[in-house]
Amino acid sequence: MTTEVKEKPEKTETKRPSKLRRFLYGLSWAAIWPIVIVVPSFVAMLVILAQVLTSLAKNPELGSAVTNTDGIFYLELYFFVFVTVLVLVLFLVKWLLRTRKHLFFRSGAKVLGVYIWVGIFATGLTMAFITKNPDAIKPPVTRDEHLVAVLQEVGGKTDLIENVSIQYANSFEGNFANDNTRGTYVPFTDSDGNFSYGTINVKSGLDAQTEKGVVAHEYLHHIWEAQLDDTTLHDLTSQLMTLYGKDTWMQSRTDFYSDTNYLLPTELFAFYCTEVGDSHLSQYVIDTCNKYINRSVLVFTRP
Ligand SMILES: [Zn+2]
Repeated sequence: MTTEVKEKPEKTETKRPSKLRRFLYGLSWAAIWPIVIVVPSFVAMLVILAQVLTSLAKNPELGSAVTNTDGIFYLELYFFVFVTVLVLVLFLVKWLLRTRKHLFFRSGAKVLGVYIWVGIFATGLTMAFITKNPDAIKPPVTRDEHLVAVLQEVGGKTDLIENVSIQYANSFEGNFANDNTRGTYVPFTDSDGNFSYGTINVKSGLDAQTEKGVVAHEYLHHIWEAQLDDTTLHDLTSQLMTLYGKDTWMQSRTDFYSDTNYLLPTELFAFYCTEVGDSHLSQYVIDTCNKYINRSVLVFTRP
């Protein structure tokens, strides 16, 4: 009689661990999936995105076409395609696990199902966030150490090139595909028209002195784009235009630009500050140049 009573709880005890086991299996899958799938796929998504954005920043024509209003559309399209492919792969994995005999794998399929739906929901939220805050998207900043050293040598300050990549380029594309192109500066503006991020490219293989001039030139484009206030821009523009108007040397120096409609006040600023001696400049222009670069380390093409 007493043995019968004892036997009963023993039987139920053999069933109980399956519930506990299920729970433990579920718990371990809850920890396994993020490590195996969620984290790597998130990193892969960011790496692909960063590479696309960096290549766009290097290719100004394509970049400006994509980073405007269409940019967000393309970005969301990318997210959508990426997540769709990922979800399809994960559903296949889930199906494979579900058909396994062992409870451990089947519980993995269940937990994965939960993660898939959480992921789809999180992607939706992210897309909504990007639509509302398009300016939050910036490519990673890449800087060549040697070029940063050159920049400091010519008096440039790294805290004035926040969100600016500075790197070497073997060749230039689009509007800059010209044998004489030794450097480029490409800025991108946010939806309010303010500077968001930019890239300075310097042709590789230049001699040290030319390189200094090119770095200073492109840096001044960034100063013009992002650091000068409206009053300074206005005053500087009128003085630069006055200088240029009666300066045949500068007119022929910049004829490539004026022929292609690319001669903007920012070019005059960069050229006058880096290539022309004090005697040909107005005091205001000299002072503004000296505020941002050290002209004494440059060799002027027109001393
Ligand atoms: Zn320029």
